[in-house]
Amino acid sequence: MEIKFYNTLTKEKQIFKPIEEKTIKIYSCGPTVYKDATIGNMRTNIFMDILRRVLKYNGYNLKHVMNITDVGHLVSDADEGEDKMIKSAKEEGKTPLQIAEYYTNRFLNDLELLNIDIPEIICKATEHIKDMIEFVEQLLRNGYAYETSTAIYFEVSKLKEYGILSGIKLDEQKAGARVELDEEKRNPYDFALWIKAPENHLMKWDSPWGLCYPGWHIECSAMGKKYLGDEFDIHTGGIDLIPTHHENEIAQSKGVTGKNPAKFWMHGEFLLINGGKMSKSLGNVYLLQDIIKNGYSPLAYKIFCFSANYRSKLNFTWEAIDSANKSLIKLKEAYKRHNEGKEVVEKEIVKNYETKFLEAINDDLNMPLAMSIVWEVAKHPKKSKTLAQLLLKFDKILGINIQEQEKNYAEEIPEEIQELLRERKQARQQKDWELSDILRDKIKEKGYIVKDTKEGMNIEKI
Ligand code: AMP
Ligand code: ZN
Repeated sequence: MEIKFYNTLTKEKQIFKPIEEKTIKIYSCGPTVYKDATIGNMRTNIFMDILRRVLKYNGYNLKHVMNITDVGHLVSDADEGEDKMIKSAKEEGKTPLQIAEYYTNRFLNDLELLNIDIPEIICKATEHIKDMIEFVEQLLRNGYAYETSTAIYFEVSKLKEYGILSGIKLDEQKAGARVELDEEKRNPYDFALWIKAPENHLMKWDSPWGLCYPGWHIECSAMGKKYLGDEFDIHTGGIDLIPTHHENEIAQSKGVTGKNPAKFWMHGEFLLINGGKMSKSLGNVYLLQDIIKNGYSPLAYKIFCFSANYRSKLNFTWEAIDSANKSLIKLKEAYKRHNEGKEVVEKEIVKNYETKFLEAINDDLNMPLAMSIVWEVAKHPKKSKTLAQLLLKFDKILGINIQEQEKNYAEEIPEEIQELLRERKQARQQKDWELSDILRDKIKEKGYIVKDTKEGMNIEKI
């Protein structure tokens, strides 16, 4: 069955045809790890998860890359201001790399809690400095970049087209452009590829232009090219990345390879809170941990996200999470009832459900429609093992562990214990069994017993 995706590049739904027959190559812009990921960030990751699952459901293999921005990028999208990672490091009294490691682990932990299918390659910017330098050198050689006393800039006017994703017109923008911080810049839209580090700058690397650090956009172009080649199938990210980050990624790649790096550009819309933006000043920045602390399953957040297409805005309310949590429990109960059922459902009916579900997910990941079919199956009056098997198959897309009973999240585990658990998990990953045992004892002293099972760590109050 054909798959259709909305392509931001062409502004229409298009039939998706992979470049290679079997393996689809995807690049997703990942987190900047100087703070906790919000449930907004997680909506974008759930969109990425569904995309992966739908392609796999259709029989494809994936080579999917997600970057971890651990060099920080500058405070404003236009690459000016103080570095976010360094700002956070100063505030928390840690080194930037400690900050990055801490928040990377917490980010990966959230993905696990949401049962998100992890990209095959997760790569850190700081481990690809050499690839970035080579990319910048190539841009200079090809005449798309120039050096000033503070940075190496990309010269946007050298490209035939700049702004194809967002429709920015350089000529129209020039007149109204903001005051420039760097007078050596030739065009206000020229952006920093590589920045010369001031003496007291914490993160900097030796390069042909002295001690420098990367601009934000270069890491994605360099790592995308390294792992996926000059041209790959799909590039994803949140909608806010279109006008700056993704325009600049396209510009950089065109400057080196002459090609737009991705055939399909797919963007997830924003999560709103009570109809507005999530912001610290409004005190409405929620994390996945807040959902858990309020007694809800993290998977309820997934069910909540399925209530809107990824290209529509979605409004978060606690009432909506409450109802999503109830739906999650009902779905699991429905699976159980079908699994214990002895009635027979005609093959035709099952086939029909299967086709309708596939049509929905293949139509630009239409999860609200797919969920309506899931519910039809769940509520089918005949209780049958065949329908339980069908729900299990649909769960390849939903990823809610439909056959497992939902844990009781009302029993809240204190943050202090959760932190010890995270440390212990890391120790075990590094095979530091001694530290793992010390941490287990520490957790016990605080009134909790940790058990290691095949599925991971289980925690219980003593
Ligand atoms: P950041 O770590 O801020 O660079 O963001 C990581 C990803 O999350 C980007 O793709 C953003 O577009 C996305 N994102 C940020 N805020 C939201 C939101 N409220 N809703 C959905 N996605 C978001
Ligand atoms: Zn990116």
